[in-house]
Amino acid sequence: MISPVIVVHGGAWDIPNELVKGHLKGCREAALKGMEILKRGGKALDAVESSVNSMEDNDVFDAGVGSFLNAEGEVEMDAIIMDGGTLEFGAVAAVKNIKNPISLARAVMEKTEHVMLVGEGANKFAVKIGFKTCRTEDLIVRRELERFKEIKKKLKFETREVFTDEHLGTVGAVAMDLNGNLAAGTSTGGVPNKMPGRVGDTAIVGCGAYADNCSGAVSTTGWGESIMKVTLAKTTCMFLEEGFNAQEAAEKAVKHLEKRVGGYGGVIVVDSKGNIGLAYNTPRMAYAYIDGEGKLHLGV
Ligand code: ASP
Repeated sequence: MISPVIVVHGGAWDIPNELVKGHLKGCREAALKGMEILKRGGKALDAVESSVNSMEDNDVFDAGVGSFLNAEGEVEMDAIIMDGGTLEFGAVAAVKNIKNPISLARAVMEKTEHVMLVGEGANKFAVKIGFKTCRTEDLIVRRELERFKEIKKKLKFETREVFTDEHLGTVGAVAMDLNGNLAAGTSTGGVPNKMPGRVGDTAIVGCGAYADNCSGAVSTTGWGESIMKVTLAKTTCMFLEEGFNAQEAAEKAVKHLEKRVGGYGGVIVVDSKGNIGLAYNTPRMAYAYIDGEGKLHLGV
């Protein structure tokens, strides 16, 4: 008998003490939402989508509502979802006016013959299928507007800085269902002050997420430009294939990110046997998981 498991993260960065509570609460809610589906016999894919939706709707995190603003004050988001049974995935990048980009990514997977849509094309697709859109203002929270104004006062702003001393909160989830199927998903508003059109690791398969029933499911967070160079999610799966356990694979992948390209970030993992792993080299990463015994764990 297979026991379902779920792991979620709320971003790898230097989460200040006053924001820890909100992050833990958001991660806890997201993990419980996903587990509710898994316990009823629902698919890992549905659980991952539901957990990520819950964090996209929570303005504490940098995904959906609460996303960072780009250099022009717009909100452009990236998301991916992947089914470990079929290796089907769907992704959207630099998409605007969408509250739940991961659900649009799933629609790309299920309703098109493509795997990824970006920018205007992704938004046109959303309208065509009657996907709920929103105004940019509906995605912007005061915290991010103030951050935008602060950044604009600075003479120089480097993306790398934000992963050591700024506030981020990309979200992601990985799950195993009662049938032993795996899924992974990740959703983000990206990084503050990014150039319009900038796409990070999140929506790129093998970078922001990867799921294969033969190895494991992985969702990543961190400095996208570094994560892409080492295809962090797929690299983590590769370590699983080499025989490392979920925790070892997570640690090895993050170490590789740091050593090879001086990157920052974190990963969450469920392997093909339902074992859980997580690692990060940022000061903190918010996470929650419910293990095979049904026990909830929270951490930052
Ligand atoms: N990886 C995301 C990006 O670079 C940001 C994050 O995970 O916080 O777009």
